[in-house]
Amino acid sequence: MATPPHASSHGPVPGNPYSAPGEYGQAPAPGNYGPTPSGYAAPAPTGHAPRACRACGAQSAADFKVRAHVGFLIMMKFEHLDGPFCRACGIAVVRQMTTRALFLGWWGPLSLVIFNPFTLVWNLVAYLKFSRLPASAPAPGRTHLDTGPPVLRRPLAYVVLIPIAWAVWIISQAVTHSS
Ligand SMILES: [Zn+2]
Repeated sequence: MATPPHASSHGPVPGNPYSAPGEYGQAPAPGNYGPTPSGYAAPAPTGHAPRACRACGAQSAADFKVRAHVGFLIMMKFEHLDGPFCRACGIAVVRQMTTRALFLGWWGPLSLVIFNPFTLVWNLVAYLKFSRLPASAPAPGRTHLDTGPPVLRRPLAYVVLIPIAWAVWIISQAVTHSS
């Protein structure tokens, strides 16, 4: 007598909030393992994240910093952008920051002699690192940074001729006076 009501009471059970098809419908047997790793799955992508380009999400990226320097008299500003960057975005950032340093980095004594040359050498190393990476596609829905023209096709970079001319003048003066 009690059996038929029980059987019919099993019917409505799937409609219960506890047996919502999305949650437990797939979970019972394999879901035992499913939910457990998903609790640990969150740290796993962050473990991969530092390797992906921070600008476009491309998978092969190098974690290297790109610098720029601004120096006016005693005011100095040390700028940098942290990686990781992929090949395309890395080259884009190096070109942009290097042009900035070539334009704004010379106008204080320490900047001229120490910090801006250091910045340029650093960016050369960065450029070599990024240019050795394989080209990689950006993550879906994202794009590479605009690489733009090479540094030497950017007019602002030629401001570097002023400190170079000055250095040549200083050296030639030293040579003339010593001989
Ligand atoms: Zn990128």
